[in-house]
Amino acid sequence: MKVTVIYDNRKFADDLISDWGFSCFIEAYGKNYLFDTGSNAGILLDNMKKLKLDKKKIDVIFISHPHLDHTGGLKKVLEKCKCKVYIPYSFPRLSYVKNAVRIEKFTMLEENFYSTGELGDIEQSLIIKIKGGVAIIVGCGHPGIKRIIRVASEVGRPLWLIGGLHGFNDFDAVKDIDYVCPLHSTFFASELKSIYPEKFIYGGVGKVLQIEEMD
Ligand SMILES: [Zn+2]
Ligand SMILES: [Zn+2]
Repeated sequence: MKVTVIYDNRKFADDLISDWGFSCFIEAYGKNYLFDTGSNAGILLDNMKKLKLDKKKIDVIFISHPHLDHTGGLKKVLEKCKCKVYIPYSFPRLSYVKNAVRIEKFTMLEENFYSTGELGDIEQSLIIKIKGGVAIIVGCGHPGIKRIIRVASEVGRPLWLIGGLHGFNDFDAVKDIDYVCPLHSTFFASELKSIYPEKFIYGGVGKVLQIEEMD
């Protein structure tokens, strides 16, 4: 499985554009998931192009929550792909988002891919089975990271936590997770790094994470 950060507040690769927002491209089990779409469609598509990620090859768009820094590129991407779209249950009705699947409760999306369901009346996170456990991909983390981890634990042992962790500072909640790659809205990344230097993975737009899939 390969997770490429294509939209983030920080830069990891020099030739890409950083901007407030989040998106990543997930290639796993032969499927391509676009997780969130950043703030600005132009920046999103430009970064994807530079990273040689083909928008026509997106199978699924997974939108974590309706904040504009996660949905800004959605309209443009939908014009160019006929993919499946998963949105949280209370997502606003938008004319250009047709046939999207609203996820209310914890759901298996397809083999190896799960949604936590909408938590905190706003946000869903993506759970993917990997070798030895699960990886959790989070947009902003508004419902609380501890709560998201608890739901993901139902699928398998959380080994990876990737994404925006917002004001998360209950650092004990990640003590059993092997790797944490805080991105986007994480306020306390430096504290996380000093408490768990062995878990901490520095991210930013252009960062690629290689994670072993299940056999
Ligand atoms: Zn948000
Ligand atoms: Zn955000």
